[in-house]
Amino acid sequence: MRLAQTYLQLPETLYAPTQPSSVSNPSWVAFNHALLSDLGLDESWSGPKGLAVLSGQTPLDDSTPLAMAYAGHQFGHWVPILGDGRALMLGQHQDANGKSWDIQLKGSGPTPFSRNGDGRSSLGPVVREYLASEAMAALGIPTTRALAAIATGESVHRQSIEPGGILVRVAQSHIRVGTFEFLARLGDVNATQTLLDFCIQRHCPEFLGNADRALQWFEWVVSRTAELMAQWMQVGFIHGVMNTDNCSVVGETLDYGPFGFLDAFNPTQVYSSIDHAGRYAYNQQPAIATWNLARLAESLLPLIDTDVDQATEKAQSTLAVFPQVFQAAFESAITRKVGLDPTQENHCQIAMHFLDLMANNDADMTWSFRRLGSLSIAPDPKDEVVRALFDDPQAFDAWAVQWRACLAQLNEDDERRGARMHQINPAFILRNHLAQEAVDAAVESFDFGPMNKLLQVLEKPFDDQPEVEAWAGPPAPEARVLTTFCGT
Ligand code: AMP
Ligand code: MG
Repeated sequence: MRLAQTYLQLPETLYAPTQPSSVSNPSWVAFNHALLSDLGLDESWSGPKGLAVLSGQTPLDDSTPLAMAYAGHQFGHWVPILGDGRALMLGQHQDANGKSWDIQLKGSGPTPFSRNGDGRSSLGPVVREYLASEAMAALGIPTTRALAAIATGESVHRQSIEPGGILVRVAQSHIRVGTFEFLARLGDVNATQTLLDFCIQRHCPEFLGNADRALQWFEWVVSRTAELMAQWMQVGFIHGVMNTDNCSVVGETLDYGPFGFLDAFNPTQVYSSIDHAGRYAYNQQPAIATWNLARLAESLLPLIDTDVDQATEKAQSTLAVFPQVFQAAFESAITRKVGLDPTQENHCQIAMHFLDLMANNDADMTWSFRRLGSLSIAPDPKDEVVRALFDDPQAFDAWAVQWRACLAQLNEDDERRGARMHQINPAFILRNHLAQEAVDAAVESFDFGPMNKLLQVLEKPFDDQPEVEAWAGPPAPEARVLTTFCGT
């Protein structure tokens, strides 16, 4: 078991070498063997030595684990120093294609950035992040991954006393918008340049050596982030705490806390217990991502152009591509989700009306799209499976007339269209109540069966899985989970 530590190339102000603290009685909660094999990590990672290393009992050979420094805007308020208060970067692993992956522990004990925190995680949020990252990955949405979840055998003190946990997280990068903000606010242009070149070397080596690489790279981040927002929103994902320190510069979903997935389609939905003003509501996400990227642009200004006005203008015109990329990606996805052709403007309009229709009729988002794929080109009794999801079924009928007129132009048989729609409309998402049931079983009875069963189902979100049909639909009203927590 060996890892490189490329983050040591960064300016020293950006990290603090720190060893994980050991725990009394670690055990596996879940291990992602498929990811282990995809990454080409050796089997010892999943054995007793792996458990000892990942829980902090034994140091990793020749390694320099480190806690990263970063700043951030939290709910719009500037915080000059946050950093990994309960996480450690163990190092990087190179896969067979030469791609490098960060391996990070979350919940591994105090670091110089812990402030008053204990550096630990409770098991519930570890299970939630594991489930969410693997569910998102299976949906094809860029995300950090979960290699393992560990129970520490110790308790953590939160609102109540809870079992402790450690998440082993894998990411293409752990650099956040807040990492750039941290250096920029120190006024250290050389250090910011080193950080930028580190990112370019790792993710966009084609830009290396170009005089305008800061702007090129910024444009790359803007596009990736805009595409990510479209991908989140087409499955009803709400991140919940899109502070700049939780915003990755490689367009991966990062830091699962009080996230949630929509049941009924409600564009202004908020689940996070701490988001009182709805800053991070479902439909605010593209605007907030743009705001975060503006903070990144500010941090890069001296590298974009030595003339501050020129730099600002270049950054602004680059950021202006965000709404175009987002809108194109989102509209195209929604249009394909209803089986229509995104290159035709009226198809896009009708598809976007479907969102309004769901919103006005309290219709379940995932189920509405999924079931739409099983309807025929001509109205027939099967329509009822979709109609029944709408408060006013006749509103659906009216929309369906226009929808079918567009379908007719495509001249495709029902079966083919249905199969195409099923490939983009998941039957299974990590509904809030399902996550909650798995977390409760894990935390209250140390029963990881429900978590593992749910993971198995979510691994194949686009397949019908009749044995767990109930998990495809919305929760019973009394089982609805309308508030989610950070659980730090
Ligand atoms: P998060 O809400 O997880 O994005 O965390 C925000 C900041 O609080 C980060 O700097 C975390 O490292 C820090 N933090 C959260 N929980 C803890 C904890 N239990 N101990 C120390 N630092 C923490
Ligand atoms: Mg965070």
